[in-house]
Amino acid sequence: MKKIYLETFGCQMNVLDSELVETQLRALGYSFTPALDDADVVLYNTCSVRQRSEQKVWSRLGILKIRKAEDPALVVGVIGCMAERDGAGLMKRMPHVDLMCGPSELDQLPALLENHLKTGKQQHALAGNNSRRTKTLDHAREDPDDGLEALDLARSFSPYEQRFQAYVRIVRGCNKFCTYCVVPYTRGAEVSRSPQVILEEARKLTDAGCLEITLLGQTVNHYAYAHDTQASTSTGPAKQRTTFAELLGLLHEGLPHLPRLRFLTNFPADFGDDILQVMRDSPRICRYLHIPAQSGSDRILQMMNRGYTRDSYLELVGRARRIVPHIQLVGDFIVGFPTETDADYALSRSLAEQVRYKNAFIFKYSPRPGTVGIKRYVDDVPEEIKRFRNNDLLRLQNHISHELNRELLGQVVEVLCDGPSGWGGTNAPSDKDSLIAGSAHQSPVELGATLAAGLSRAGSGMRLDRHGQPYVAPQVTAQRPPDWVQLSGRTTFDQIVVFDGPPALTGRILPVRIREALGMTIFADLAEASDACRTGG
Ligand code: SF4
Repeated sequence: MKKIYLETFGCQMNVLDSELVETQLRALGYSFTPALDDADVVLYNTCSVRQRSEQKVWSRLGILKIRKAEDPALVVGVIGCMAERDGAGLMKRMPHVDLMCGPSELDQLPALLENHLKTGKQQHALAGNNSRRTKTLDHAREDPDDGLEALDLARSFSPYEQRFQAYVRIVRGCNKFCTYCVVPYTRGAEVSRSPQVILEEARKLTDAGCLEITLLGQTVNHYAYAHDTQASTSTGPAKQRTTFAELLGLLHEGLPHLPRLRFLTNFPADFGDDILQVMRDSPRICRYLHIPAQSGSDRILQMMNRGYTRDSYLELVGRARRIVPHIQLVGDFIVGFPTETDADYALSRSLAEQVRYKNAFIFKYSPRPGTVGIKRYVDDVPEEIKRFRNNDLLRLQNHISHELNRELLGQVVEVLCDGPSGWGGTNAPSDKDSLIAGSAHQSPVELGATLAAGLSRAGSGMRLDRHGQPYVAPQVTAQRPPDWVQLSGRTTFDQIVVFDGPPALTGRILPVRIREALGMTIFADLAEASDACRTGG
């Protein structure tokens, strides 16, 4: 049977899509290989949010063109946002691409592959911008032929896979139309999945040994699912709505053996106290909130069509800290948005200083084809100014993160052990823009975002670990037993902690005592369970 190499770019939503695609194709008898040269089928699950990510795919496709000339039987497929955004343009520029499949059509990928193998003809399944709304709204009507729902339901729950962390999609698509973002055009309108289906999926994952579930959506706090009720109105059955806060409560209660429940990403507007109250009252929901600000300047926020102001953002930050003690916040910023002045940038900087995020993801603006921004605004901030602001904000955030990390010194915290730190495999990606399906354990990023503060990666040649953090070489101590290795784990606040221990600790939640905080990396020693304290973990 054919061997597939699947490489994933971009956000956790793409990681989840790749996992589900892999499940479907495995069920049909395909196997997966981490070695590109060994593959009969090469699939790239792509991201259009950053230009850099697209450039990597173009470059990989260029290399495959040479290989395909020597081996015409090789199948090359592009799936995900880039396929949807570029459509026919991509096949025109890269005629050796055999398959294209948009993110809302992934349930059709097995059929596309089979058809191509039978006929040798190019195959594609794309929603297309014009039909996007109709199509995704059809899905929302619980059409029994909803292929996307079938894709989510196709995941495997084998206890033998030793999966201890998993993503579960709760909302597809996005309705916000931020002017810089292509996601609403590639993933379609916002559609919430049924709470019963989500609970069932999460329960199966927990039964299979999963210790941490991250609920995914572009704007999870917009989750709203309308159910029919027994009562009727003149237009049909009366509807009852399940909100995001109610979904969180339902999952916390319905999954009593799940130690950690997280969610990503939040939109800073429309964020009610009810969500914060459920977080406060549910000890197994991680006290971690990713709320991308993007800018501290009201003028720029308005140009971005973000729908909130600096003051309303700070009001949410204050509310979150008041209602949920010890909560940690993570932010996102875009620097160099069109017309951004020094004064605008200073407002972003002061926002980061004021909020004191645990960490932040910082990007230089790049105009993306298909967005309102590229049509409406001139990309007029010079590259060197973008670079300066990017590095300046990274330095500031690193400093804040380091100070927050140092507050943990001496504390005993619980970590979920991810396994040996650093790169273990031969096919490990060189940075976080690219992930190999099945190997992903990522730091949280806004869906569509990829670069963590503290990593001035571009051109630096810096070696990064699996979390996108600077790689720290294992420190061999005289006392370390010979079978121990350097492990890494994550606190409930998603801080990366490095410690020594036997590899068998992988996939376990265990207490460690924080010994040292070097920049973004925290070092610890294994501790006794009785030393564990709640506040640090
Ligand atoms: S940035 Fe986030 S909220 Fe805005 S359009 Fe993109 S996915 Fe939606």
